[in-house]
Amino acid sequence: MIRTRPVNTDDIKRLNLARVLRYLHEGGELTRSELVAHTRLNRSTVGALVADLAFAGLVEEGPGSGGTVGRPSLVVRPTPTSAFVVAFDLRVDRIVGAAYSLGGHVLSQVERPRADGPFAPAKAVSKLVECTTELLAGVPEGCAWVGVGIAIPGVIDAETGLVRKAPNLGWIDLNFVELIEPAMTEAFGASPKIMLGNDANLGAIAEYVRGAGSLASSVVYLSGDVGVGGGFVLEGEVMTGSSGYAGEIGHMTVNPRGQACNCGNRGCWETEVGRDAILRAAGTSITESTVPEVVRAAMAGDQESLEGLQEIADWVGIGVANLLNMIDPDVIVLGGHLAEIYPVVYERIEARITRSRPLFETRARLSLPSLPLGSTIVGAAEIAFTALLRDPLNEMERSLALVAS
Ligand SMILES: [Zn+2]
Repeated sequence: MIRTRPVNTDDIKRLNLARVLRYLHEGGELTRSELVAHTRLNRSTVGALVADLAFAGLVEEGPGSGGTVGRPSLVVRPTPTSAFVVAFDLRVDRIVGAAYSLGGHVLSQVERPRADGPFAPAKAVSKLVECTTELLAGVPEGCAWVGVGIAIPGVIDAETGLVRKAPNLGWIDLNFVELIEPAMTEAFGASPKIMLGNDANLGAIAEYVRGAGSLASSVVYLSGDVGVGGGFVLEGEVMTGSSGYAGEIGHMTVNPRGQACNCGNRGCWETEVGRDAILRAAGTSITESTVPEVVRAAMAGDQESLEGLQEIADWVGIGVANLLNMIDPDVIVLGGHLAEIYPVVYERIEARITRSRPLFETRARLSLPSLPLGSTIVGAAEIAFTALLRDPLNEMERSLALVAS
């Protein structure tokens, strides 16, 4: 027997407020008629919801910015000075941070280099608190701080936020939220909810919500860094897997005779297309060069670099063809160093995909990341808005303790 939980009018109203605010946050400005069409609610209900959101300061109504013919119609838009989040991307060689408003405007940005290799958790905490102080200085007065999102290059337990394994940071089974939350509270008087996410998953979310996949239903984001990770949004849902570890595509075997991988296997995709593979194919190494330098050399006509990148392109094509066979998404976004090498060798990559899939016509689009701030950090900002976009009015009330001044 299926039991359904009784849904009261407060629940329905909260869900509808959340839907309207999410449409505005992701879509920017919309007319009331567009909101009626998107939500399939009637006009007077939409009017009442907009009034409630406006009373809470979350949205405002005014003339639209597009179109010049005739009288501009009124639009509803998120108030960019109402609520914001702080987002971070912990990368191999730097920390990138941003304060990001409701509606997706960048309010302030920060970047700090860090030494390649393990990152002591206590040091990471103090760096992030320091960066947050700098970011908050760029937030308009009165804006409510509703969340923190942090992108981690590793395996995250989606339920608990535990960092299971982040080899590039040297973290294993680390509850980073428990470390950083008290430090944020001490520095700022209180802490909004802190959310962690796998960097490739967040890249996929960002490209799906407001990037190359915004008109698609299935988006794969490939993060090329030291290794290769994959984030999947399928039919509008992030694929996490039964244990939260889905998307470890860097470890699918593509070449049984390939190099040994640090996972213990041999010929994993990341041993063929990861950073070290690119440098090795171009006849250099991490102590002598970087992927952008190899790309520049190839573009300037250096034969060894170009041939090395062509070889890598074949392995990129083989891995992408496997993904196409498995899930046939609308868009595959090549992130990180895969985006850097793509313009030089895209013909080879695409030829290899065609050769690997003779039976099927490929409609899926390969795309470069399309968000200037960076897909991963935008994804971190998007998950930081989760609580507000689930329960706008109550969350705004709770956040009054954390208003920028
Ligand atoms: Zn492996």
